[in-house]
Amino acid sequence: MNFLQSFEEFYESAAKHLDIPKGLSDQIKSCDSVYHLRFPITLDNGEIEVIDAWHGEHSHHRSPLKGGIRYSSLVNEDEVKVLASLMTFKCALVNVPFGGGKGGIKVDSKNYTDNELEKITRRYTFELFSRNSLGPNTYVPSTDYGTTSREMNWIYSTFKTLSNSNIDSAASVTSKSVTQEGVNGRTEATGRGVYIGIRELLSDEREISRAGLKAGIEGKRIIVQGFGNVGYHAALFLYEAGAIITGVCEYNGSIYSDKGINPSELKEWLKQGKKIYDFEMCETSEDPWFAFYKECDILIPAALEEVINATNMYKIKAKIIAEGANGPVTFEADKYLTNSGVIVLPDLYLNSGGVIVSYFEWLKNLNHVRWGRIENQGNNNLKEIDLINNALNETMTQAFRELSEKRNSTGKYISYRQAAYRLGIEKIANTYIEMGLFP
Ligand code: NAD
Repeated sequence: MNFLQSFEEFYESAAKHLDIPKGLSDQIKSCDSVYHLRFPITLDNGEIEVIDAWHGEHSHHRSPLKGGIRYSSLVNEDEVKVLASLMTFKCALVNVPFGGGKGGIKVDSKNYTDNELEKITRRYTFELFSRNSLGPNTYVPSTDYGTTSREMNWIYSTFKTLSNSNIDSAASVTSKSVTQEGVNGRTEATGRGVYIGIRELLSDEREISRAGLKAGIEGKRIIVQGFGNVGYHAALFLYEAGAIITGVCEYNGSIYSDKGINPSELKEWLKQGKKIYDFEMCETSEDPWFAFYKECDILIPAALEEVINATNMYKIKAKIIAEGANGPVTFEADKYLTNSGVIVLPDLYLNSGGVIVSYFEWLKNLNHVRWGRIENQGNNNLKEIDLINNALNETMTQAFRELSEKRNSTGKYISYRQAAYRLGIEKIANTYIEMGLFP
């Protein structure tokens, strides 16, 4: 089963329980459109390379569409379609009024210079702009695997130039640097959201006792796969709340320590260009999977999709799987693990912190004024970071309550993923029905 088939199975397994006309359900499931773009860039050595890229628009039931842009050598059309679809259901689930979109450029950033990456980014932005597929009211990208605020700043600057300084240019892309009209707290928002979601689950004593765990984050043993934006920040917030980060896996190796790893120290180590498998006071290996299969309370896959699948699901020794990444557990593995008593906190809910704070950034950009500047008559006590973090906390806590209510309302045990899909699909179906598209 490939990534697209796995997503379709998740969708159908939830939709079959809902009272929605088949035609409407087919519309909600399928991706409205996907572009395959090919464009040339001149490399620093003077050679010309043709770059493959995609832009997916899953659902226009709300505007604009939202979803990150990924730079990876593994990007392909089906992946972009699935990732755009996940964005639609994620936004519906956490009450962010956007449709789902996604972008992907088939490059491994490590193989290009900064200058080349800037050219690729600006050209991709032009390609989207010229198709009316980028802008504050059409598609608003943000960061994803392989991209940071740097690429978002380049997109903003290109869009602004092409749109003749459209007054709302800043709202054409989120996750920008704070000095480029971004918001405080966006960089760490997805990881913070992962922490909030895990905290909420761990406060439900009855639920987690099924997995043989006691309530609370304190002392929980956690392994993280992917120490990038999402994985590092999730590890950091959980560590600060008293969890023990026992393992970290990267693409070129992994490390394990019963005593725990300090995420900030590891980050500093990697920033200096040192290898993860040389990190001190740990069991280390050049095998990225060495720490992945160790026993733990919570495993956080925060790199790429399909990493827990039919071939390795038997090796997982975690009580909770917390999906920082999009689509890390396949349909088959999800079924097997859930039946074995493992609690899976699904991507649709758990990594929504990024899009929630991107929504706040978009609102700020459209308002053209920082929060509190007018309402509080110069009272500077209102700090943007506190407003953002409180609103993120409130949105994710509320969404967790909705998820729990959905699970309890069905009368028999359903997984968090089932509840998330059912809630998302129902909300989108209602929007279509109320708009009168499906009388
Ligand atoms: P990132 O590029 O910042 O980090 C990804 C990390 O994973 C990198 O450090 C990379 O070296 C590592 N990695 C790659 N292959 C690996 C492997 N085989 N084993 C272990 N580690 C590996 O990306 P990110 O923004 O943290 O995104 C990670 C996941 O989270 C993606 O699935 C993305 O779609 C999802 N996500 C990201 C955001 C966001 O705001 N950035 C929001 C929601 C979901």
